[in-house]
Amino acid sequence: MRVSLLFELPEAPAVSVLGEDARYPVRRIFCVGRNYAAHARELGNAVDREAPIWFTKAPAALCHSGGAIAYPPGTQDCHYEMELVVALGGHGFEVAAEQAMDLVYGYACGLDMTRRDLQNAAKAKGYPWDMGKDFENGAVIGAITRAESFGTPGEQRITLTQNGETRQDAPLSEMIWSLPELIADLSRLYHLAPGDLIYTGTPAGVGPVAPGDRLEGRVEGLEPVVLTIDPA
Ligand code: MN
Repeated sequence: MRVSLLFELPEAPAVSVLGEDARYPVRRIFCVGRNYAAHARELGNAVDREAPIWFTKAPAALCHSGGAIAYPPGTQDCHYEMELVVALGGHGFEVAAEQAMDLVYGYACGLDMTRRDLQNAAKAKGYPWDMGKDFENGAVIGAITRAESFGTPGEQRITLTQNGETRQDAPLSEMIWSLPELIADLSRLYHLAPGDLIYTGTPAGVGPVAPGDRLEGRVEGLEPVVLTIDPA
């Protein structure tokens, strides 16, 4: 018998998949920080290969591409970060890098929206970043393309325009940690499963958004991610 609940929660958010009627339900959102050297430097951080820097966002933070959102609350310095998102379709725990790509279902364009002032204040005190990263509409995502249709991530360019002006432009190959390395590392910390998304870090050129902005992020071979900030 099904357990009865005191009240209904919203259904798990689910992302469109190119060429599929069914959507991809989201279970967890993992994100990696400082995965492009030039971006790490622009934020004043050391560039190293000690270990990937992980953080998470709740599925409730998901925002679908094409939407318009209010300027996020509690911040005076909300930034865009354009990222390749990996959508997992398999189970894995302590997987080797050589087998890690077998877990990938597909890829999408995503925006890791960041309340930079809150993140910087937390970093300065050694406090958790959560309030800077995990907030409503903070994980924007475009439609997923199945891995076999996209091919192998490599020299494809990842770009972002803000009101038509290019702000970010780099090849995916500039990642410090490759996708197999990221998935293998994360699988030492979690039992990975279908529905797990990984935001794989942003290239250089992050910056603040303003009311009325239109952001458009692209990775060659994928559907774009588009976000509008409501006018003031
Ligand atoms: Mn990021």
